[in-house]
Amino acid sequence: MNVTESARAAILVRIEAAARAAGHGARLLAVSKTQPADAVRVLAAQGQLAFGENYVQEALAKQRELADLALEWHLIGPLQSNKCREVALHFDWLQSLDRLKLVAPLAHHRPRERGPLDVLIQVNIDDEASKSGCAPQDIDALAAAIAAEDALRLRGLMAIPAPSPDLTARRDAFRRMRVLFDALRGTHAGIDTLSMGMSDDFELAIAEGATMVRIGTALFGARKRD
Ligand SMILES: *Cc1c(COP(=O)(O)O)cnc(C)c1O
Repeated sequence: MNVTESARAAILVRIEAAARAAGHGARLLAVSKTQPADAVRVLAAQGQLAFGENYVQEALAKQRELADLALEWHLIGPLQSNKCREVALHFDWLQSLDRLKLVAPLAHHRPRERGPLDVLIQVNIDDEASKSGCAPQDIDALAAAIAAEDALRLRGLMAIPAPSPDLTARRDAFRRMRVLFDALRGTHAGIDTLSMGMSDDFELAIAEGATMVRIGTALFGARKRD
C-alpha cells in the first residue's frame, strides 16, 4: 500500500464516522489541482472517481491524459465567462456558479448528449472581498435561472469559509450555509448537495450538514503551488 492509498482509506473511515454521527451521507471529492495525472490515476485505481479542479486549462490537459478512465470532473475554482463553453463541454459538475450572466452561456454550450451539467451555487458566506461566490440574498434569483434551463441541473450550494484558525467561526459559517441550504430546498426540493469542508475541517463540516467534502492536501500531500 503506498502513501496515497493509505491516506484515502483513512479519510474514508473518518468521513463515514462523521456522516454516521450526523445521520446523513457524505461524498469525497478528491481535489487534484496541481497534482499530475499519474496521481489521479493512482487514486482512480483505488475506486476514487470524482475529482475537483480549480483551473480549466490544467483540468483539460489532465482529462486528455486520463481519457481512458470514466471519471467525474468538478470545476471548483472561479469561472470566467470566456470559459463557459469549455466547462459546458468538458465537466460533469460546476461548483462555482456565482452570477447570473454565466447561466445562459453554460446552458447554450452544454451538448445534449452529455445530459444536464450539475450545478452548485457558490456562496461567499463570510463576505470576503477577495473571494468568489454570491451574496446569500442572491441565491434565489440564481437558483431560479438555473432551474429554468433544461441543460443545467441545480444540485445545491458550495462554500469556502474564511480560513480562520478559530474553529468556532468556521462552525458558524457552516451552520449559516446549512440554513441557506434548507431554505433553498423549500423551493427546489430536488437539491441534494451541500459542498463544504476541506482537509483541516471536513469532519466539522459534515457535523454541520455537508454532503460533499473537497479534500486535496490530506489525500495527495502538500501542494508545491496553489
Ligand atoms: C484547494 C481547494 C480545496 C482543497 O483544499 P485542501 O485544504 O488541500 O484539502 C477544496 N476546495 C477548493 C475550492 C479548493 O480550491
